[in-house]
Amino acid sequence: MVYKYVCFVMKISKQNAAEFQKKLEAWYSVRHRKLPWRETQDPYKIWISEIMLQQTTVQTVIPYYREWMKHFPDMLTLSRAPLQKVLKVWQGLGYYRRAKNLHKASHIIMSDFNGQIPQNYEDLKNLPGFGPYTTAAVLSIAFDEPYLAIDANIRRILMRLLKWPRKASSSIDKKLHPFFSPLLPRINMGIFNQALMELGSQVCRPKNPLCLLCPVFDFCGAYKDGKQEVIPIPEKRSYNKIEAVIAIIEKNGKFLIQKRPSIGLLADLWEFPGGKLEKGETAEIALKREIREELGVEIYEERFLTKVQHSYTQFQVTLYALSCSIKMDPVLDKNHHRWVSLEGMREFPFPSGSAKVIKFLETRMEGNRRR
Ligand code: SF4
Repeated sequence: MVYKYVCFVMKISKQNAAEFQKKLEAWYSVRHRKLPWRETQDPYKIWISEIMLQQTTVQTVIPYYREWMKHFPDMLTLSRAPLQKVLKVWQGLGYYRRAKNLHKASHIIMSDFNGQIPQNYEDLKNLPGFGPYTTAAVLSIAFDEPYLAIDANIRRILMRLLKWPRKASSSIDKKLHPFFSPLLPRINMGIFNQALMELGSQVCRPKNPLCLLCPVFDFCGAYKDGKQEVIPIPEKRSYNKIEAVIAIIEKNGKFLIQKRPSIGLLADLWEFPGGKLEKGETAEIALKREIREELGVEIYEERFLTKVQHSYTQFQVTLYALSCSIKMDPVLDKNHHRWVSLEGMREFPFPSGSAKVIKFLETRMEGNRRR
């Protein structure tokens, strides 16, 4: 099945494999970002950077990498450091198991490998924290060994080159390997891998890939068929869907906003009063109930303004914004409620859904001014 794709799309010969490598490497030599771990051939430093970069963006990693190198510039220093210090320097990078594995592996490398990162696949992959990707990345970048390091970026590129309509998952890496073996260079494997990584993050992006800037678009099956946006098949996120209503209560050019609790969802952000629709409620009925419960006042007039949708990590919300008048001023808690002008709202952090409503109010105000 897969074989069909590779034959159809790439027809790899020695000549076009060389062409592919040449184009990719030429692009990389001009376009790559200068990153601190790219200025060294020290296997220790390359290893640290590869571990830090797992599930973490380059921009986040840079200061951590620099700080790490100040505290633990080499294997010996790392192996002698107390774990508490290692964790402290790692603090904020998340996935703390990575730091613990670095520390553990440094002890083994000092005791079993004379302080040198082993240069063969079997020894390396048995060390704590070395999966197939990290092992291939360190061997290729530090030692120029011929291993293709498939991370999420490279997996996406390979699937698009092949025009392979599947969901991206590390379970398909074994199937990808054989098809790309003919493309791999005999030398400069580290550069080749880094060029693919860079291409994946700068050009062959998950959404809106910049195919016209791609050095290997001639080889790309997805590009030829206009399928780059649907390969890999996007993950369908199963969102919890919520409907909520918010009250836009205006007095003397200012709007009533309130602060969310300090724990839980969207903690400490500001929002308009309101809340979730209960089963069977219309937005108007839910609004009256919420405002009575939250502010202890009755609404006597409401008017639909806008509806916005926003997807957060855990849920998708549809917000109905209604402008309304209230029968009397509510008793407010000054720590949790404010009357704020539209301009003043820029000083307050809002969830993105509420920010879209603010944008709507700004546009409406601008329209009113022009009339
Ligand atoms: Fe990715 Fe487009 Fe290049 Fe294909 S042509 S590898 S989809 S950037």
